[in-house]
Amino acid sequence: MSRTTQFIQQTDRYSARNYGPLPVVLERGEGCFVWDVDGRRYLDMLSAYSAVNQGHRHPRIMQALRDQAERLTLTSRAFHNDRMGSFLEILCEATGFDRALPMNTGAEAVETGIKVARKWGYETKGLADGDAEIIVCANNFHGRTTTIVGFSSESQYRRGFGPFAPGFKTIPFGDVGALEAAISERTVAFLVEPIQGEGGIVVPPDGYMMRCHEICREHGMLLLNDEIQTGLGRTGKLFCGDWDGTRGDVLIVGKALGGGVYPVSAILADDEVMRVFHPGDHGSTFGGNPLGAAVGEASLGVIVDEGLPARSLDLGRWFAEELRAIESPHIDHVRGRGLMIGIVIKEDSGPARPFCEALMDRGILCNDTHHQVIRISPPLVITREILEETLPVIADVTSGAGVAV
Ligand SMILES: *Cc1c(COP(=O)(O)O)cnc(C)c1O
Repeated sequence: MSRTTQFIQQTDRYSARNYGPLPVVLERGEGCFVWDVDGRRYLDMLSAYSAVNQGHRHPRIMQALRDQAERLTLTSRAFHNDRMGSFLEILCEATGFDRALPMNTGAEAVETGIKVARKWGYETKGLADGDAEIIVCANNFHGRTTTIVGFSSESQYRRGFGPFAPGFKTIPFGDVGALEAAISERTVAFLVEPIQGEGGIVVPPDGYMMRCHEICREHGMLLLNDEIQTGLGRTGKLFCGDWDGTRGDVLIVGKALGGGVYPVSAILADDEVMRVFHPGDHGSTFGGNPLGAAVGEASLGVIVDEGLPARSLDLGRWFAEELRAIESPHIDHVRGRGLMIGIVIKEDSGPARPFCEALMDRGILCNDTHHQVIRISPPLVITREILEETLPVIADVTSGAGVAV
């Protein structure tokens, strides 16, 4: 029995069955490559859903992790630590907001955004307790807590997990008219991803985020901009909202903020919004811990100092054009921004998953999202040469070679 089979059997025996991963067992990673337990090398074209934008085990991030691990790892927020302040200062400077509130996972940061928006709404609009409403988009992905799945439009994310929190209204993504029409005197915020990642790399019309922000301003509500997946260089700008000239009123970041080594997330907002939080209103045992702060500071530093947004822009533009030039009977179209690219497989050609399995057999790891889409989101440190080598393989596989359709 191969080691791969052994590890998969062990996992199948002991783990909850809440995932259906590709049958590859990884044991080592460096830059944009990972190796499996049988010694095969793969190109990582998923980057843990954009949590490894800096590449696996980036030396600067690893050094920050090791240095901090030797000194102090966790204090809780019952005490100050000497790392959180400088991390948040750099995060605020890079994003342009007054204040940051650090958490750990993306879903926790989204929950934090929901809490800050509701409290801000009650204080500024004088709504009766329990009346605050938040508008969200169909086809969204904001995480897996019960509140968040409660406003998902994906039936599997919801089925069996109710009852859900009220106070959310769903509109189509990319439709500013629908946003205006959905607003009532109870609306406190609009929660949106600037590109829907899990929803299938869905890019809204140009100017969408800016128009949404203007509408929010006109109606005295907050734009909650979930950049957990699109942020930190992924789409060819530091934040995807930069394509439209806005980062929203509350910016939600996670994933690559931890550089692929430690969970670090945060929300950012100006004083006028963040002032609604008082001691005891919100918290997390690990949020803002010194180890996460050191890793977060180094992770953000790598994105900025290595110019990864510009790299993503250049490589992404070129690579998407190369993908569009592939003549395949199965590709419907290619979409995305920067190195956040979706290859959409035609409905008639079946789901995207068998194409991802065939790519895996040829040494390229990506995953399928929203049934028909092959997601291409390599680490942003990838080179043009490495990407170039994938093109004949992708052309071959998307023409049907090795695909169990
Ligand atoms: C991944 C993701 C989340 C949730 O992050 P977790 O760390 O998995 O909780 C939220 N929003 C978006 C847009 C994401 O891509």
